[in-house]
Amino acid sequence: MNTLELLKEEIEKCVRCGTCRSVCPTLKAIGRETACARGRITLVEHRLKGSLELSGNYLRHIKECTLCGACKSNCPNGVDTVRIFAGARAEAVEKEGVPYAASVVFKNLLESNRLPWALKLANRLQGVLFRDAVASSGLLSRFPLPLIGSGRLLPPIAKTPFLELPNVKALSGHGRPGGALGKAVRVAFYAGCGVNYLMPEIGTASLDVLKRAGVEVVVPVGQVCCGMPAYAMGDRATARAMALKNLDIFESCNFDFVTTACATCGHGLKSLFKDMLGDDPELKSRVEAFSKKVRDISELLVNELGFKGKGRGPGHETKVTYHDPCHLGRAQGVREEPRALIASCPGVSLEEMKNPCSCCGLGGGLSLVNYELSMEIAKRKAENIRSSGADVVVTACPGCMVHLRDGLHRFGVNAKVAHVVELL
Ligand code: SF4
Ligand code: SF4
Repeated sequence: MNTLELLKEEIEKCVRCGTCRSVCPTLKAIGRETACARGRITLVEHRLKGSLELSGNYLRHIKECTLCGACKSNCPNGVDTVRIFAGARAEAVEKEGVPYAASVVFKNLLESNRLPWALKLANRLQGVLFRDAVASSGLLSRFPLPLIGSGRLLPPIAKTPFLELPNVKALSGHGRPGGALGKAVRVAFYAGCGVNYLMPEIGTASLDVLKRAGVEVVVPVGQVCCGMPAYAMGDRATARAMALKNLDIFESCNFDFVTTACATCGHGLKSLFKDMLGDDPELKSRVEAFSKKVRDISELLVNELGFKGKGRGPGHETKVTYHDPCHLGRAQGVREEPRALIASCPGVSLEEMKNPCSCCGLGGGLSLVNYELSMEIAKRKAENIRSSGADVVVTACPGCMVHLRDGLHRFGVNAKVAHVVELL
C-alpha cells in the first residue's frame, strides 16, 4: 500500500461538516476553502483517487498548513487531520524527493552532526548577513536569504552550542550504573536544536531548576535533532534515522525520566518516535519503554517532582501572559503545569490572553514556505498579547519564542518573550 492508500480510512471519516473552519489559523488569514482542513482533505482525496496532479498549486495548499492540530481537536468525527496532511507531504517527497535546501539542512547538518562545523562558518558570516536589533535582542537579515527571506528578526547563533559547554559535557552519564542509584531520581535531558544552537541559556536554566528540584541530571552525548522538522517537510526517512539514533544514544544511559524544554521535541520524543519506529517488532517495545518516560520539563517539575510553589520570579512586579505551544497544549495535553509554575513565582500576575492556544504561525515549516502568511497569523497573536497588557509573554518552546519575538518586533508590541524555566 502506498502512503496515500494508508490514509484512505482516515480521509473517509471526514463528513465535510466544516466545524474545523472556525478554528483554522490559515483559513482566518487567507479566507479560502483550500486553506482549511475540509478543503485540504478534499484535495488529498482527489490525489488518492488519481484525479489531481502533484502540482505546485496542490503542494502550496498542503504546505500552507501549520500542522497546529486545532482542526483535529475540534473535529466531531475524530479525523486525524495532522496525520493526513503529514502523509500528503510524505507522498510528495516520495515522488519528487526532498527539496534541495531542506535536504542540505537535514542530511548534511542535523543528521550527520556536521552542524558545529557549519556554526563556526555561520558565526563568521553573521555580521555580514545580519544587523543587530538591540531593543529586541535579535538579528535582522539584511538580504533575502534561502529559506529565510529579508527583514526577519532571528536569534543569534550561539558561540558555543549548549551540548558543547564544559559543564554540560561533564554530565554525559554514559557508563554510570543504575537509574536512581538508590538515592535520587535520575533525569536525562534532551536539548533539541533550538536550545542547543540558538538558546543555550534555556538549557542552562533547565539544568539549574532540575538541580534545585533535587534530581540527578545526565545529558547523553551524541543526541541529535528529534526529527520533527524533517517529518513536517515529509522527509520520513531522515526523521526515522534521527529517531533511531536518539533511541540508541539514550538507551546507553540509565534514567527514570527523559525531559526537554522544547514542546516540539517533547511531542516528537513521545509520539513521533513511536510512529517512525513502532512498525518494526524489534524496535516497538524499545521505543514504547522510552516514550513512556518522556515528560515536558513543566510536567516533570509539577507532576513528578512536586516543584510547584518554588519559583524565583523576575524579582519585581511583572504581568505575564502564557502562550500555549501547539505541540504542548494540544499535542501533549500539558496546559496547567506551566501556568502553575508561572503563578508560583513571587511578584508575578498571570493574565490570560485571548486564544492562548492559537498557533503563533511557525508550525509545519510555514515560516519557511510562506513567511508572509506565517506573519499574518503571528499578527493576531501579537494583538492578543498587546491586549493582555502583559510585560512578558512566557511560553515553553524555543521555536515559538523565535517566531513570537519576530512577530512582536514587526507589529510593534512592547512585550518580552521568555521560557517558563527562565522565570524559575
Ligand atoms: S475534518 Fe472533521 S470538522 Fe473538518 S469537515 Fe471533516 S469531519 Fe468536519
Ligand atoms: S492543522 Fe491547523 S492550519 Fe492545518 S488545517 Fe488544521 S487548523 Fe488549519
